[in-house]
Amino acid sequence: MCNSDHGSSSLTEAYHSFTRELVAAGLLVPSGQKGVFGRSGVFEAVITGFEAYVTRMGAPTHPEAMSFPPVLNRAHYLKTDHIHNFPNLMGSVHSFSGNDREQAEMIRKLDASPDSGDWTRDLSPTGVMLAPAACYPLYPASAGTLDPKGRTVELSSYVFRHEPSDDPARLQIFRMREFVRLGTPAQAQAHRDHWLKQAREILVSLGLEVQVVVANDPFFGRGGKLRKATQREQDLKHEFVIPICSSENPTAIASCNYHLESFGAKFGIQSSDGQTAHSSCVGFGLERVALALFRTHGLETRAWPAAVRDLLRIET
Ligand code: ATP
Ligand code: ZN
Repeated sequence: MCNSDHGSSSLTEAYHSFTRELVAAGLLVPSGQKGVFGRSGVFEAVITGFEAYVTRMGAPTHPEAMSFPPVLNRAHYLKTDHIHNFPNLMGSVHSFSGNDREQAEMIRKLDASPDSGDWTRDLSPTGVMLAPAACYPLYPASAGTLDPKGRTVELSSYVFRHEPSDDPARLQIFRMREFVRLGTPAQAQAHRDHWLKQAREILVSLGLEVQVVVANDPFFGRGGKLRKATQREQDLKHEFVIPICSSENPTAIASCNYHLESFGAKFGIQSSDGQTAHSSCVGFGLERVALALFRTHGLETRAWPAAVRDLLRIET
């Protein structure tokens, strides 16, 4: 299991050690790329069980269920601030659209130097980007005036973030299950407040003794580091953290975010009173939740507490 640690080299060793254990147990299948793993049936059963549990617990809020693919219309992506705030995390889908002569030239570059990536300069952007968060495709799909009740949507998707790491909990491609609220400021805040309590209860019921912390720079990435966040902005992002590889650097396994009117303004969403809609979301990092469960209860699900197995309906 992972150690508590003091220096970055022991942290790296803790990452390697937990990864080795997960791979040896067959739970993760390495791909040769950092942060990209296959998962065993047992790992997936834990995620499936957790998603179903979260869905049951979210049912009283009567969410609409929606599903989007993990790619986003490029024009919609460019309406967000993501490229300004997190350029290093983005994933752009490119392909080849040249003629035969240009293709021959690309293959020549590839054969001459397969690893240099020089050949990729002959690719051109497609109409899609990889989705950086499960909720992004919902905002353009909600343009217009909302019902007086606003809109509550449950959605789950793979998302991509280019952050290769030795940490088995820091993946480049992972799943997020979210409950998103669109409506008046009061509706969006009530959703955030509800999930701050509800998400904690869900995680604690599974033996995950999370701490709730306010995240420092919520959505502003590079830009945010340069500017001093206002008091109001400081309260916009809460994370549920728990030790996975380090007790000193616990990992966020879920978060609650209040976006104010940022998505409503960018995508032309109004509440029924004609004001720009506000939005908030809770997002569970599904692989991180599974890893926190394996870290807390051991790698053998048969040995997990009966109450946890029951809540997750795990039969293996
Ligand atoms: P917003 O919608 O405003 O972009 P969000 O809630 O959708 O915010 P995050 O808070 O950044 O997005 O991520 C949600 C959850 O996804 C995190 O709490 C975490 O559990 C998980 N997560 C984030 N990055 C990674 C990663 N690299 N690997 C695995 N899980 C991650
Ligand atoms: Zn979100």
